[in-house]
Amino acid sequence: MPTREDVLKELSKVKGPDLEGDIVSLGLVSEVFISEGRVIFSITVPAERAQELEPLRQAAERVVAKMPGVEKALVALTSERKGGGGQPQQAQPVRPAPAAGDAGSVPPPMQARGAGAGAKAGGSTAKPGVPGVKSIIAVASGKGGVGKSTTTCNLALALQANGLKVGVLDADIYGPSIPRLFHVTGRPEPVSGRILKPLEGYGIKVMSMGFLVDEETPMIWRGPMVISAITQMLREVEWGDLDVLVVDMPPGTGDAQLTMAQNVPLAGAVIVSTPQDLALIDARKGLNMFRKVDVPLLGIIENMSYFLCPDCGNRHDIFGHGGARTEAERLGVPFLGEVPLDMEIRETSDAGTPVTVSAPDGPHARIYRDIATKVQAEIERNREDGHRAAPNIVIES
Ligand code: ADP
Repeated sequence: MPTREDVLKELSKVKGPDLEGDIVSLGLVSEVFISEGRVIFSITVPAERAQELEPLRQAAERVVAKMPGVEKALVALTSERKGGGGQPQQAQPVRPAPAAGDAGSVPPPMQARGAGAGAKAGGSTAKPGVPGVKSIIAVASGKGGVGKSTTTCNLALALQANGLKVGVLDADIYGPSIPRLFHVTGRPEPVSGRILKPLEGYGIKVMSMGFLVDEETPMIWRGPMVISAITQMLREVEWGDLDVLVVDMPPGTGDAQLTMAQNVPLAGAVIVSTPQDLALIDARKGLNMFRKVDVPLLGIIENMSYFLCPDCGNRHDIFGHGGARTEAERLGVPFLGEVPLDMEIRETSDAGTPVTVSAPDGPHARIYRDIATKVQAEIERNREDGHRAAPNIVIES
């Protein structure tokens, strides 16, 4: 097992952003946690460059993963948020961070109830469920900007319109947009001990890191804190009785997401993709990620699928619509539906009045309700067939 010094020595071979210096002497590497063959740390980068610097994260991960005695390297890019004018401070998790080495582990097992989400998530590892919550599903995307949060929000509201009791957990801690989408602000109050009461938007219980940290406070997320914060938002919140808890996952398919997918007792995952080829490749990575941890795939949603021209009323397939459907068929994963690129969807989402509530009888709300119905059917199918093997997907990357 390498020591922290060994790890830092290896990491000093990784060049900094713009190929200047190395990430260690530039002071970008966080504290390094080493536990049972796993090495966990984060690299601080400017928030606006996080996506562009993904290769840097991968390079750091690779050099550490290659070290003798290392089974897995878990590296997160973290950022200092500008604003507030204060000195950057280390982000505080919701509650005290777990002891080093606890990252990625879950709190002591709770009693899973009935056929709850944790009873059988399709895999052999029994993850404790969340009492009262029947199913937990993840909405994920291979990359940011494909409309994952917009889809999460409208899907949750459509599930509610279909008669289910629904909650939303915003696990996209780097850019929590659920508070804005549901038009909710405020601080969750403690109900007893460590348990917080979620806030509510349009009748849906919502919990987001956006409620717990000050947007103006510059913050640095340490890898293990990410896991710890999400675990707490899942288990130390009074969700009450829910049919479905919809989790808005952070974008991407890195190890942080993988660890999360592993820790949350998921009944299934929905992948959101745009029709462009690149996004589809990313969607495939997302599918692969859930397959790795034996989480059933509920299906793919094609977002910004086609453009309905408000002037001429014609439909334009500007992005090569239909790619996701073909891909889903090829991979043997259910295709859940296509959502058009539409100004009304954008404007209502951005204004915190999602189209499913602002125009519940309109064509877009109907599309989301149809998708919700298919998602419900898939959850049921997986529940009844709990021992069904995960779909046999061959991933070509
Ligand atoms: P992600 O969570 O994948 O980063 P968001 O849900 O934040 O993406 O969406 C990114 C932007 O795209 C937002 O401004 C949102 O309003 C817009 N958007 C999402 N879906 C659609 C759609 N179907 N039509 C038009 N705009 C959309």
